[in-house]
Amino acid sequence: MKYFLFALLVLALALPACQPSAEVADKIGVVVTLLPQAEFVESVAGDKVEITVMVPPGASPHTYEPTPSQMTALTQAVMYAKVGSGVDFELVWMDKLLEVSQQMLVVDCSKGIELQGAVDEHGQEHEGLDPHIWMSPLNAMSMVSTICDGLVQVDPENAAFYWQNRDAYLRELAQLDQDIRESLAGVQNQTFMVYHPAFGYFAREYGLTMIPIEVEGKEPTPAGLVRLIEQAEEGGIKVIFASPQFNPESAGVIAWEIDGRVVLVDSLARDYIANLHLLLGELVEAIE
Ligand SMILES: [Zn+2]
Repeated sequence: MKYFLFALLVLALALPACQPSAEVADKIGVVVTLLPQAEFVESVAGDKVEITVMVPPGASPHTYEPTPSQMTALTQAVMYAKVGSGVDFELVWMDKLLEVSQQMLVVDCSKGIELQGAVDEHGQEHEGLDPHIWMSPLNAMSMVSTICDGLVQVDPENAAFYWQNRDAYLRELAQLDQDIRESLAGVQNQTFMVYHPAFGYFAREYGLTMIPIEVEGKEPTPAGLVRLIEQAEEGGIKVIFASPQFNPESAGVIAWEIDGRVVLVDSLARDYIANLHLLLGELVEAIE
């Protein structure tokens, strides 16, 4: 049924009535999947682009479905920057989105990034890939460079502008990486517990161990919950990280059992650098 409605939508969009409005006609339409990518594009392209984010604030990229207005934006876009690391939204929708807008250049932000396996509650890698590549600033630097290459390809006239902005933003990201290394240098207990396992690349980059409560998109079983509580107690964990998108009861149950607290951190905030500083602050406080 979903695809039938989608087919109707595609037909409707194919009618000649859909012209780009004059207001945005002089800007380049760029589509991204996730909010942090919007910041990456904006940092490189400034106001030369009109950015459409497919997964809006508060929505989960593991379950979100596109809206008609997003489809319209797609027909006017010249570039789509996909995450490319197995984000559910892209696995389900990417082929359909490309049918709607065949003229777009598609850049793959995971290009050059070594994908890692998802991690379970024992810190062991799973068969499935961990899609959350952007949570490591070093990966973010690679993503920004890939996005810049794409912008130069679709708009070569402004190449010098894009390169200059890219270099400035890459310096900020390198500084962020430096700040994280310095802040975590004196940390004793380098294990943290998080509901949704969005911090795997971050943890590996900085030598931390992430214990996820949710594994492969599923809540823990009652027995699993007991094991997690024991693990948290043994590890001296006092903070359970959850997020605005993923903050279920189990996070609160574990926090209550260990006499700790739930702290919300967002892996999908648009303001990438400021957000990672926030995460860093909470993390240092939680594991010190
Ligand atoms: Zn996720």
